[in-house]
Amino acid sequence: MAGGCTTRIAASLVQTLDSKGVAFLDHPNLIRLNPNVPWKTRGNGAVCLRIESELDSEEVLELAAEEIERSSRLGDPGTDPGIVVLIDPVPSSIAEFSMEALTRVVTPEEALSAISNVGGEGLSYGSTRGIIGALAAIGTRLNDDYTFELIAYRSKSFIGKPRLVDIESVLRMNEEMRSVTFNNIDPESRRILITPRGPDPILCGVRGESPEAVCKAFHMLRFREPIEAWMIFRTNQGTDAHLVRHYRISELQDHSAVVVEGIVKEKPRTIRGGHVIFPLEDKTGLVHCAAYEPTGRFREIVRKLEPGDRVRVFGGIRAAGKEIPTTLNLEKLEILKLTVCMVSHNPICSRCGKRMKSAGREQGYRCECCGGHATSKIQQTVGRVLEERVYLPPPRAHRHLTKPEVRYLRTRDGISPRPLAQWHFP
Ligand SMILES: [Zn+2]
Repeated sequence: MAGGCTTRIAASLVQTLDSKGVAFLDHPNLIRLNPNVPWKTRGNGAVCLRIESELDSEEVLELAAEEIERSSRLGDPGTDPGIVVLIDPVPSSIAEFSMEALTRVVTPEEALSAISNVGGEGLSYGSTRGIIGALAAIGTRLNDDYTFELIAYRSKSFIGKPRLVDIESVLRMNEEMRSVTFNNIDPESRRILITPRGPDPILCGVRGESPEAVCKAFHMLRFREPIEAWMIFRTNQGTDAHLVRHYRISELQDHSAVVVEGIVKEKPRTIRGGHVIFPLEDKTGLVHCAAYEPTGRFREIVRKLEPGDRVRVFGGIRAAGKEIPTTLNLEKLEILKLTVCMVSHNPICSRCGKRMKSAGREQGYRCECCGGHATSKIQQTVGRVLEERVYLPPPRAHRHLTKPEVRYLRTRDGISPRPLAQWHFP
């Protein structure tokens, strides 16, 4: 299912299916897809419910359709929900389809043919795009890295009003739970990140490494408004699942999520709006890489790159516009090899310790103090501030899929989630 307030509709559907005696084999999966698709629903997410039931696929499809028709504002632009029902096991062709939907633009036709090839059932509203996310969510098994998010929902009368969250309780929770949760707060701006902005029904989302962690963290929060319901999702958020395909520059396609290795061609420059851009080159071509203004201090890192630096860049390809060339929107920067930078200075007099002046064109250098002479400038290496490592924008500029810095040192060892659905409805 995709489109509209996807996770909220999924939560209602879980409630319905639960009342029909359906067994849930996993937490509801919240799957984020290629964030660079231009017509995506906000966040480009879809939910997959893995269930065991006496109901046949048509009955399940019917229940999901009823839920969508009850809860979505069908007809709103960008509200194109879709449903796919598939009998287990998930064929490898569907897993491959999911990888495509994570990293590039796929068409509804590709989704429809993939569904009919494996004998699945599908239903879509509006444009048929919703079906892409729905199918891709089924095919993403989250076998490798994954995280959890507890999403709490607002009661109807509060939707559209400011969220009444006690900031102190968020800070306390972050302090205590920082080793098993992530992106609660943006450290650079101190902005609270667990509450979204905008008129959606989500009150807050707490992201972390296990169902226990997000549950405990959530219950440390204090709200001055009612909580309608909450549900824990298992998700590919915070895993960099989309940044896996390596490309040569000549192969880059618009709106893809890519990894490219190359050499910085020119010194980065700051353009209007505070964005920082630099050209990156490999044997096959050149692409402009951009760190946009919302990436904050990350831009200061990018500005310190020098021509000749070997880097690996991760991000999305933005199509060329009227006056803008094709641009790689940086989500992550790995410095592989810093070049040695040299500067030349006028020589220093060995007797007086003073810097010499040019004695005229091709005349060498002369000390104004004692008349001493030298033939050439001295070369000096410049110390580099950057290190050969990965640099990331601050969490507030992250995509849902971006793996945050704090997760780099975490392993899933010892964190084995119980395959048990957890939610709360009034
Ligand atoms: Zn001198």
